[in-house]
Amino acid sequence: MDCDPAMTSLTHALSVDVEDWNNLVVLNRTGRIVPPQPAVVHNTERMLELFQAHGARATWFTLGEVADAYPALIRKLADAGQEIGVHGYHHHLVYTLTESAFREAIRRAKDALEQAGGQAVLGYRAPAFSIDARVPWALDVLAELGFRYDSSVFPFRGRRYGDPRAPLTLYARPTRHGPLMEVPLTVVDWGSRRLPCAGGGYLRHFPLAYTRWAMRAVERRRRPAVIYLHPYEIDEAYDADFLHQHLARHERRGFGRVRWLQYRGRSRTERKLRWLLGHYRFDGLARVFGLEAAPSPARVAASA
Ligand SMILES: [Zn+2]
Repeated sequence: MDCDPAMTSLTHALSVDVEDWNNLVVLNRTGRIVPPQPAVVHNTERMLELFQAHGARATWFTLGEVADAYPALIRKLADAGQEIGVHGYHHHLVYTLTESAFREAIRRAKDALEQAGGQAVLGYRAPAFSIDARVPWALDVLAELGFRYDSSVFPFRGRRYGDPRAPLTLYARPTRHGPLMEVPLTVVDWGSRRLPCAGGGYLRHFPLAYTRWAMRAVERRRRPAVIYLHPYEIDEAYDADFLHQHLARHERRGFGRVRWLQYRGRSRTERKLRWLLGHYRFDGLARVFGLEAAPSPARVAASA
């Protein structure tokens, strides 16, 4: 252990966006919906085993289509004491949906996940962090459907997403149906810059030394880190037959670069993940941020 033992009293938040990489490629390239493939089960189970070996719990923000196709997977996560959250029904970006389509998708996903897992779902994360000023109704819909928190804000200036003015820690957001808590993804404020470090591509592409530096920085600020991963990030194979079957030749154009970006570093990701799990304590977002019960007015006012 090379981290300062005096600084390891924090429990950090771990989250996994549960989606199948194969059907996601088809959706992103063609708009066509095909069923999630069994790889999502295999990879999610492998990640769960890795977490359990280190006594870590997480929030698994899962697509409703995965719950409907593989309900036993959701039950397995719930039985293991893990938190289940919603990641949409299909992986549609929120700002491509109408308000009523979003409401129906989220209601359907929440029902599927609660049925399969046998536990109330409290949290939501948008596909590709796609809640922004274009969809001012999104948080109202989440509060209306009984969600306690959202975790869709990446508080930095990203190329495709992010809000560089958003708060860095838990805060309350007003909605027509009462406050909804927001749990932002972790960035490290470094001088006037905000640097993403919270997992996903940032964990995959950057060296372990960067992750170690970032974890030390958030611990110094006494902020729990909010880390996100995908089950396929520890998978080194992809289903070439499936993609050939579902994508026409012109739809595969440029695929080599996408595959390079999204597969590069996967073998090292597991090593970095094991390092994180070995050095820090992790739990799901609701437990880390005390969001299991409805927020009291005093608590909301204090964190607003
Ligand atoms: Zn996603």
